Amino acid sequence: MNSTMKNIIAQCVVCGSLAIGLWTALLIAYFHYDQENEQLRKTQEFIRANSVRKNVHQQNHVSKKTPKQNTSNDTIDFSAPEFYKEFKQYGLNAVISRRLGIRREVPESRDKICHQKHYPAYLPTASIIICFYNEEFNTLLRTVSSVMTLTPHRFLEEIILVDDMSEIDDLKEKLDYQLELFRGKIKLVRNKKREGLIRSRMIGASRASGDILVFLDSHCEVNTVWLEPLLHAIAKDHKMVVCPVIDVIDDKTLDYRAAPIVRGAFDWNLNFRWDNVFSYELDGPEGPSKPIRSPAMAGGIFAIDRHYFNELGQYDKDMNLWGGENVELSLRIWMCGGQLFILPCSRVGHISKAQNLNKPALEKALSWNLLRVVHVWLDEYKDNFFFQRPSLKYASYGNISERVQLRKRLGCKSFQWYLDNIFPELEPFIHTDKKKRNNFL
Ligand code: UDP
Ligand code: MN
Repeated sequence: MNSTMKNIIAQCVVCGSLAIGLWTALLIAYFHYDQENEQLRKTQEFIRANSVRKNVHQQNHVSKKTPKQNTSNDTIDFSAPEFYKEFKQYGLNAVISRRLGIRREVPESRDKICHQKHYPAYLPTASIIICFYNEEFNTLLRTVSSVMTLTPHRFLEEIILVDDMSEIDDLKEKLDYQLELFRGKIKLVRNKKREGLIRSRMIGASRASGDILVFLDSHCEVNTVWLEPLLHAIAKDHKMVVCPVIDVIDDKTLDYRAAPIVRGAFDWNLNFRWDNVFSYELDGPEGPSKPIRSPAMAGGIFAIDRHYFNELGQYDKDMNLWGGENVELSLRIWMCGGQLFILPCSRVGHISKAQNLNKPALEKALSWNLLRVVHVWLDEYKDNFFFQRPSLKYASYGNISERVQLRKRLGCKSFQWYLDNIFPELEPFIHTDKKKRNNFL
């Protein structure tokens, strides 16, 4: 073969490879685009369908006097990629949130019977602790401004914001500037590394000086007379931990609607869920204003005496990122001599974001945290959890000796006691009794 021939063949090979490469790249780009489009289309359909359903639900629950909120969906282009991107990023409709801005009025959601309640002029003071990580700016500010507007300032010691090392620009100087406008009552703590919500709450609590700690998520809006019932209940009994009814702020429309009265519960996966309240509990003179005994709390929103929180062992500082801490604290309260109630005359709206459990890092942290709950608190009922989550049976969960010690030191009761007295509805399907267990298996 002479050199000209060689050159021609070499050129053919190069051109061929380039052409194949180009076609492959085009094909990949096409399929990727198609997939993204498909995902986008599904989200848009979901959003439209949900908006309709939620509106029906809203009519059932919210009083007719709802102030008009300028959040109409009509002018929002759900097909805009920016909308989709922000919805994924923040877990809520940022377009509407920006439209609402940093302050709005929400509909009164308490039952009429609550309007007749009176609270003492002197109550303990509250430190409101709000941890946030990459929260949408207006949503965070609405949380703060609703507390500032609807809390009598004599009960409000301070609002402590803990930034869990957010990366969003808006939450830097722009936030500092905005908070200056509220003056005085607000402390902002910035974590030097991402701590997760559990350690962030502990950091917030360690800076607090009010008598009572009130934890809120960074996407809440409080309702009329929200704080007084919580403070009053704790003033009467310092081992009483109380939650408001958590009203629903729709993540797509940001409409506020009253939630029904329910109690907190969980299953053997230790997944939190809401359970119905027995009708006899709402009978009697107090009717739908009566405190509801709750086996568990949802986690984000509750009030606890500051000294009692410390006495009870705060949180498990070795729990990571997110999750499980609500079940752990609920068990600790009940098993170690406290009480946990939901107060229907206190209401706080919360945006429930659907995004959390698709992220592997959060899933991993949640499993780790739950295992710590299981090994410290579930006694001989551990197997009920592992029956549901067999893959976690031999998974690691770090050192729990401090928490086991704490349980001993506080003289806490057994999980069996908790099942018998506080949460008999949680049927154990693996019995500790050998005979029953063999029957079952
Ligand atoms: N959060 C935080 N650090 C984290 C995860 C969450 O500070 O690593 C904050 C978050 O911004 C929110 C609160 O903790 O204010 C509770 O988180 P989220 O709302 O995701 O929990 P959920 O309401 O789903 O229980
Ligand atoms: Mn939340």
